[in-house]
Amino acid sequence: MLDLKRQYQPLHQELLAAVGHVLETQQFILGEQVAAFEQAAAHQLGVSHALGCSSGTDALWLALASAGIGPGSTVLTTPFSFFASVSSILRAGATAVLADIDPTTFNLSPTAVEAVLDGPQGKAVRAILAVHLYGQCADWTAFGRIGHERGVKLIEDAAQAWGAEWNGVKAGALGDVAAFSFYPTKNLSAAGDAGMVTTNSDVIAERAKMLRQHGMRRRYYHDEIGWNTRMDGFQGAILAVKLRYVGGWNHARHTVARRYQAMFHAAGLAEAGPYPSRGVVLPHEAAGSRHVWHQYVIRTARRDALRAFLAERKIGSEIYYPVPLHMQEALKCLGYGAGSFPEAERAAREVLALPIFPELREDEQQTVVSAIAEFLS
Ligand SMILES: *Cc1c(COP(=O)(O)O)cnc(C)c1O
Repeated sequence: MLDLKRQYQPLHQELLAAVGHVLETQQFILGEQVAAFEQAAAHQLGVSHALGCSSGTDALWLALASAGIGPGSTVLTTPFSFFASVSSILRAGATAVLADIDPTTFNLSPTAVEAVLDGPQGKAVRAILAVHLYGQCADWTAFGRIGHERGVKLIEDAAQAWGAEWNGVKAGALGDVAAFSFYPTKNLSAAGDAGMVTTNSDVIAERAKMLRQHGMRRRYYHDEIGWNTRMDGFQGAILAVKLRYVGGWNHARHTVARRYQAMFHAAGLAEAGPYPSRGVVLPHEAAGSRHVWHQYVIRTARRDALRAFLAERKIGSEIYYPVPLHMQEALKCLGYGAGSFPEAERAAREVLALPIFPELREDEQQTVVSAIAEFLS
């Protein structure tokens, strides 16, 4: 599914030198390495502020809290994402409300969002938290308009989308504030847990800086109850090195995705979406979107049997995500149930992520596609 050693090998010397530098300077928490990474990251994304923190989950909490979301606020998000997209809203003390997804992109549906905003829960909504799932931005033409018209804040869960764009604007620079994750499997990854908050707002940035260090503006003077969610120096140093390569890696992912597309078409397996019948529905890149292919996700009717068939042949695949968030045990408190979000529930039964990473070889992809062809024949 993912071979991280292929990324590490050519960077071995550079990463060791970066780690060595942190040991030389003994700056283990934030410090000059993290500051340098933050500056380079902000520059690359075209955003005014980038603040390193300890994970993507903490970045989501920090983004929400620094945008003024807390007890009494309601945040609207998707049921089809990683758990943290919803749990961070609850951790911030706010209420989470969900809307269904678009079946072609798997991202939050602007139409479903507007229906909720027009419904009984709509008036309480202070923010929309849109996830750029699998490395493709949510429909920001629509969300930008909705945010403006309705006066709600727009928050990006960009954990899977470093380098993705919507009409030439990078993820992280689209909303009021955004959260990134550098978990080791993400397309820009640390050597442990790390995350980042980005924003163009000086006010939000100042609050985020304060909240990531126990609400301190001055050392040992606490203005608010924050948290300890600082990035450590080793992660900053490693990420600063990888930041110089991530553009090339995203380009290589794009090449891998195009090759899958060509191979599935050549094998006669590709079918028009959004729902599968006998073949495979390939991922859809929306107009105006620059996908970074964090995941390559197909839809297929006999998904679980296909996954078992691939596993027997030692071919990795993954399901992101098998249980929609409104059906998670821990989130029963949201008050939804089976049938609440039919698109998310159907996607959870049909999606399958195939191996994709910058160093994946053409012959390996051919093995994957041939096995799927054999299963479907
Ligand atoms: C990975 C991920 C997170 C959480 O990031 P961590 O760094 O693992 O805490 C949040 N949202 C999405 C969509 C993710 O993929």
